[in-house]
Amino acid sequence: MPYDHRKILAPALALLGCVTLAGCGATAGSAAPPTRHGQAAPPGSARPGDGAGATPAPSAAGGTLPLSGRTVVIDPGHNPGNFRHAREINQKVDIGTNRKECDTTGTSTNAGYTEAAFTLDVSHRLRDLLAAQGARVVLTHDADRPFGPCIDERARTGNAARADAVVSVHADGSATGNRGFHVILPARVSAGGADTTKIVGPSRTLGEGIARHFARSTGTAPANYLGAGTGLDVRDDLGGLNLSTVPKVFVECGNMRDPKDAALLTDAAWRQKAARGIADGIRTYLKG
Ligand code: ZN
Repeated sequence: MPYDHRKILAPALALLGCVTLAGCGATAGSAAPPTRHGQAAPPGSARPGDGAGATPAPSAAGGTLPLSGRTVVIDPGHNPGNFRHAREINQKVDIGTNRKECDTTGTSTNAGYTEAAFTLDVSHRLRDLLAAQGARVVLTHDADRPFGPCIDERARTGNAARADAVVSVHADGSATGNRGFHVILPARVSAGGADTTKIVGPSRTLGEGIARHFARSTGTAPANYLGAGTGLDVRDDLGGLNLSTVPKVFVECGNMRDPKDAALLTDAAWRQKAARGIADGIRTYLKG
């Protein structure tokens, strides 16, 4: 998400005629086909539907699963179809502090593995891990719509589900040499229709847990280009956080534009570790 990648990608975007510069960067046009994990969804897992898929908690024979009765909303950042819908995703929506593009295309590795494919893959893995522990899991989308949802709708999905925790899955598009993951926490915002006063504290606890477990599970270090080595960042310019009324964080799993990070992000085994780290962090938060 952060700053400098927008400038880096600007020439490529100009070539593509893409004007969406806000958010997590923008994708290159020569994207590899999305690698979809878990095409055959296990029993009890979310299915593509008309917006969001919900997972009923599987029944445990004679026992209560650790996350039974808890609801987790997973927000796969961007959408593989966004780049075909520039006009729609560039429509501005109200994020409380100001107005911002409905959605962005996301970034990609230099070889064309898109952030949108990455976020869906990790989200599917995360969904399966949480559902296996009894959580009710809702996805904000499952590439079952041509573009979006818009960032305000993504926030509303978590609110409407009365989620105990919401995680928006992303990967960054920063400069080569910038490496590592970070978790973005909501700033205290009270403007327009946004009021994060009640979620700032619990979101930080959620984010700290995810950062700790993500590092442990993946063996990767916190970002070396922001957050002062904590793996944590705080932002007030993200509609998905500003408009949330339930604890929510963004996870930027690595920098797709750095070759070493890209080697990790394109590795299915590493993505499973990433999903495991996020799931462990969520579980720690919910059981805390
Ligand atoms: Zn993103």
